[in-house]
Amino acid sequence: MLRARFVLRCCMIVSLSLAISFSSTPLFSQSATNGVAGSHNAPAALTNPDIDSRVEALLKQMTLEEKIGQVNQYSAGEPTGPGSGRTNYQDMVARGQIGSLFNVTGASQTNAYQRLAVEKSRLHIPLIFGLDVIHGYRTIFPVPLAMASTWDPQLVERAARVAAQEASAEGVRWTFSPMVDIARDARWGRIIEGAGEDAYLGQAMARAYVRGYQGLRLDNPTSIAACVKHYVGYGAAEGGRDYNTTEIPERLLRQVYLPPFQAAVQAGAATVMSAFNSLNEVPASSNHFTLTEILRKEWDFRGFVVSDWTSIRETMAHGIANDGATAARKSMNAGVDMDMQSNLYFTHLAELVSSGRVPLARLDEAVRNVLRVKFALGLFEHPYVDESHPAPTALDPASVELARIAAEESLVLLRNQPVNGTPLLPLATNVRNIALIGPLADNRLDMLGNWIGKGSPSDAVTLRAALSEYAQSHGEQIIYAMGSGIDDNPDPAFSEALHAVRQADVVLLALGENGKWMSGEAGSRAYLGLPGNQEQLLETVVAVGKPVVLILFSGRPLAVTWAAEHVPAIVEAWFPGVQAGPALVRTLFGETNFSGRLVTSVPRSAGQEPLYYNHLPTGRPAAGLDLTRPPRNNDEKHKSRYIDEANDPLFPFGFGLSYTRFSYSPVTLSSTSASARSLNGGGSALRASVEVKNVGDRAGEEVVQLYIRETGTSVSRPVRELKGFQKISLVPGGSRQVEFSLGKDELSFWNIDMKNVVEPAKIEIWVAPDSAEGKAAELTITE
Ligand code: BGC
Repeated sequence: MLRARFVLRCCMIVSLSLAISFSSTPLFSQSATNGVAGSHNAPAALTNPDIDSRVEALLKQMTLEEKIGQVNQYSAGEPTGPGSGRTNYQDMVARGQIGSLFNVTGASQTNAYQRLAVEKSRLHIPLIFGLDVIHGYRTIFPVPLAMASTWDPQLVERAARVAAQEASAEGVRWTFSPMVDIARDARWGRIIEGAGEDAYLGQAMARAYVRGYQGLRLDNPTSIAACVKHYVGYGAAEGGRDYNTTEIPERLLRQVYLPPFQAAVQAGAATVMSAFNSLNEVPASSNHFTLTEILRKEWDFRGFVVSDWTSIRETMAHGIANDGATAARKSMNAGVDMDMQSNLYFTHLAELVSSGRVPLARLDEAVRNVLRVKFALGLFEHPYVDESHPAPTALDPASVELARIAAEESLVLLRNQPVNGTPLLPLATNVRNIALIGPLADNRLDMLGNWIGKGSPSDAVTLRAALSEYAQSHGEQIIYAMGSGIDDNPDPAFSEALHAVRQADVVLLALGENGKWMSGEAGSRAYLGLPGNQEQLLETVVAVGKPVVLILFSGRPLAVTWAAEHVPAIVEAWFPGVQAGPALVRTLFGETNFSGRLVTSVPRSAGQEPLYYNHLPTGRPAAGLDLTRPPRNNDEKHKSRYIDEANDPLFPFGFGLSYTRFSYSPVTLSSTSASARSLNGGGSALRASVEVKNVGDRAGEEVVQLYIRETGTSVSRPVRELKGFQKISLVPGGSRQVEFSLGKDELSFWNIDMKNVVEPAKIEIWVAPDSAEGKAAELTITE
């Protein structure tokens, strides 16, 4: 069984990749971006001396109670966590005791609270309204993991801009997004909320979200403040269990987990959220090292830090505080400026400041940070929104079209084997009877995934709806049967589904996870297969012998190991958003091409997790061994391997098929050696280029990926690391010279002395269609 799987996988790779070569040029270096507006004045708004003067003038007038009000935040809408113990928010706002409310939406509701703050409170300081606008406000885009799978930061920026326009129209000027936690373990449910397992891609996506939300000017009424979260290490939860402990040595923290946060801060992110987890025995929400030493002192962050929901109170559960006052003191002194929902700053700060246990200067600094963002957003000038047209931009046709394009770009074609001599996809125009089976074929709510803002299931178009519409004009017959629920337990009744399958020329099987509960916060799983009866449904349907296209809807990669051997076509659709159905239909019928690529390794089984391509080498690598069968002797056994599972993923990071094929020329390096001293001193980068050609017969987009490996260095470096990518579009026969540059940003790492430098090394360089492909070119870095 294992061997068969292995052989099929090899064939697939060979047929997919043709000529592979090597090269580099980070589409995205630390400062530059892939043709997207790089720097703009959002960070400037946080360093504007005029704003600082206004902040100081206001601060001077504030009483201790009013200062504490500014660092106090509650949820006044539908809760997503424990209560604050308070309900009298109107009174508190009018007394200046609240600086921010969240989960309040609708122009009239935000305006009503804002009137109390601006017209009733003594100093007229406006509230800042926050919300989890994660992948759209009303127009729901694909979930963030899917957005990252587009490998298209410009598209992500445009989607974030749409979300900002819709949210701001209802008074929401602050989103708790982007989540930039690196997730190397698919058991962790919140993998759905980020950009996957790679820090380089994570940085590109982090910048794109910040640019989209905050626009060119924060004080543009259609801009919203970003909140980069969850600072930091939250995605490394042990065992993938949400809220669990994280242990991350400083080098790994700096190399992998911090960079996306730093990229967001450098792009001007106005706020940061401190995480739930304990990091190296110190809760992230009372971690002075990360919150003050790194964020403030190293990165010069000038916005404010908000805690996660009750994460200040939870430091008691972590065991570092035996009472609320201590929890509040430790978090405030560590650098958390605003208390989300714990009600502990409000309860204890007055006494803590009076007794000197929290220095007044520290509270003043927190208040400054909050006020600076409020001024930067222009809230003092424009506290209200227009109620006569609550959301003029909501579900604008152009936004919905963008949601469809994003969904199309996020679909990943995992497998497309020939049936009767031709790849099963795109579906042939002469297909007449299509059986559409599965619990996710016609469920609007699940198409949206989790964190859906003000999204509504009624806005979503399912696969069944879109397919039926397509069939009406193209003459196909659609025979639909649900077959099973998402997580039904035994005794399935598959007869209706089998009846449909027997009448069909081709079967579309829509399986996967529930959009709301099986991933996202508190959605960790110990098993990574299809839930409920769906594996059984899949195998029963395939046994009929009709060509099957498996379409997976999920918030994480699923271990569909059996399917990867037995089902000719597999599409990972994630949760595609409001335009799920149209995007899928257009792509399945070949009106558009697949261009999504995996941003997370797909496991064969949960036992492989954590599973990520950029792992460190071991002293006993299993390279060259057939891991698809148990070890036969001592040499085969004493390797870094499982005795009952292969090491490699079912599908690797960066992988995705297309309806066309691309060839890569050998790479041309501007030089095969460079000096570390020169690179460290800002010397010019090397250039590497490769020619990529569309050698198939359809137009398509290719994600050209640059990877490196460094050896001979003072510390062990990953077996491969992404250091550049470009998504290019080619007509059949068309080719493009793709150029990358390799400078300090790409070649440096945190070395044995904890310095971020380029070291003398041997460097292998691949430019390839995914993280498992290509032949390395060599570069030598001398002293
Ligand atoms: C989540 C955050 C979210 C916050 C506010 C918490 O439970 O961890 O990601 O932003 O709630 O809703």
